[in-house]
Amino acid sequence: MAASIHLARAGLQVLYIEADPQVNDPIAESLDWSAPGLLNVLGPSMDHLIHEGISTYKRHVVLKLRGGAEQDYIPGDWLANPPFNVELRTIHVDRTRLNHALREVFTVAGVHLLRDKAIDLKRDGNRIISVKTEGGVEIQSRWFIDASGSGASLFPRLFGLPVFDFRF
Ligand SMILES: Cc1cc2nc3c(=O)[nH]c(=O)nc-3n(C[C@H](O)[C@H](O)[C@H](O)COP(=O)(O)OP(=O)(O)OC[C@H]3O[C@@H](n4cnc5c(N)ncnc54)[C@H](O)[C@@H]3O)c2cc1C
Repeated sequence: MAASIHLARAGLQVLYIEADPQVNDPIAESLDWSAPGLLNVLGPSMDHLIHEGISTYKRHVVLKLRGGAEQDYIPGDWLANPPFNVELRTIHVDRTRLNHALREVFTVAGVHLLRDKAIDLKRDGNRIISVKTEGGVEIQSRWFIDASGSGASLFPRLFGLPVFDFRF
């Protein structure tokens, strides 16, 4: 969604293909420190989300060590200063509401949504010419971005790419 919003705002025509017919909640609720910066750029800023009750500040991180001990991790102020400039605050979100807020940004940016599943593609060497969907649509474009997450198999399978599982 973030890539679609950026590209549509940059003036490209963007078609976003989504396999899941339900509007699920793909966004996790515990966001890391990169999230506020991304949200500021996309639209619903962290401050707005707090104000609207869509999120609450996350206080800090508790590390649970193998030995059973716990340790609080609070980022030091130095991290907020140059050259790092890291936002030290981050949030927990109501992911249903954040997803709806992002869908609005997405629609306003002019992204077209196709609820269908990409199942095959045509290629010329390493170049993708078109993508076919389960619903029988064939999409031609100069560029395709595969953001199909951990369930991804189509592009890696067809291009013989290695798959690394970073499950936690
Ligand atoms: C139980 C659980 C809890 C988690 N909690 C957290 C957390 O608290 N904080 C955190 O930061 N992360 C958390 N995560 C991880 C987080 O959800 C993922 O890192 C994140 O969703 C990955 O985003 P993504 O856009 O890469 O993929 P996804 O969110 O998986 O999105 C991929 C999309 O591609 C679509 N798609 C797949 N194949 C096709 C196809 N062939 N054609 C068309 N569309 C297709 C799928 O329907 C899906 O909508 C959690 C994960 C799980 C499972």
